Amino acid sequence: MAEKLLEVNQVKKYFTIQSGFLQRTIGFNKAVDNVSFYINRGETFGIVGESGCGKSTTGKMITRLYEPTEGQILFEGNDISHLSQKELRKFRREIQMVFQDPYASLNPRKRIGILLEEPYKIHNIYSEKERRGKVEELLEIVGLNADHYDRYPHEFSGGQRQRIGIARALTLRPKLIVADEPVSALDVSIQSQILNLMKKLQKDFHLTYIFISHDLSVVKHISDRIGVMYLGKMVEIAEKKDLYQDPLHPYTQSLLSAVPVPNPKVKKERIILQGDVPSAVNPPKGCVFHTRCPKVMAQCKQEVPTLQEYKPKHYVACHLYS
Ligand code: SF4
Repeated sequence: MAEKLLEVNQVKKYFTIQSGFLQRTIGFNKAVDNVSFYINRGETFGIVGESGCGKSTTGKMITRLYEPTEGQILFEGNDISHLSQKELRKFRREIQMVFQDPYASLNPRKRIGILLEEPYKIHNIYSEKERRGKVEELLEIVGLNADHYDRYPHEFSGGQRQRIGIARALTLRPKLIVADEPVSALDVSIQSQILNLMKKLQKDFHLTYIFISHDLSVVKHISDRIGVMYLGKMVEIAEKKDLYQDPLHPYTQSLLSAVPVPNPKVKKERIILQGDVPSAVNPPKGCVFHTRCPKVMAQCKQEVPTLQEYKPKHYVACHLYS
């Protein structure tokens, strides 16, 4: 039986909106609103949705770059939701993040080897001499060369920089990596190289991934199970095959209708949603998708649907299935 590595229980992240000289709170941006899911050890859990749906904020709460406003995040059964920076130290080694733009987080004046050695120095691991060897080894593991140690960030291509981002996440041998749009800024040919590298590293280092992306094709390539988010809510969770063959939520159905199919003989009806995504500051009452849903009913405008297991391991938050 699969073992849960991470559990996210009814987590919320509300950002306060302040105004005026006294910075009075005038509202909240409900970036993530009551989201629950779990991740099994060794799997890749994809989180997909449009920009502003709360997927990156969810990732940042799991890595504790953000503290949840409410709810609980359990990592190997330990509640990490509200730990102090000092208490988090142990977990920081075990949960790492890969960002969309690794260049933004690399100090341009430092050589790559020195940057990659930093986690070892912070956590006081290995002697100075050993560190260099470990970093050179790591560079080779991610498909770079040991002599790249002395180069500066600007000397690398986009794909190479993402390999450096992955190497940095790997330095402390984490158990969980949260990858936030790791290939979105790369050409399609480079994207598949990075995805294949991530898959190989997952096997070699027994990693568990949370893979966040707006791109359904990319998420499909790498994920075992997928969660779909819309306006701060998790609206559907299923195993990859089930989600792509039998999407239940009208929002997932519309997203998938836009993905091109490889077989030109297969005709797909495109579901085009009306209107824009509403603001997370003032989300619609009831089902947050009701203002755009082609199947909206009277009940949807009043009652919030909860995520329920409709079929084995296939969860959906929609009144059509309750
Ligand atoms: Fe559409 Fe209603 Fe289902 Fe929301 S609950 S997705 S509005 S049918």
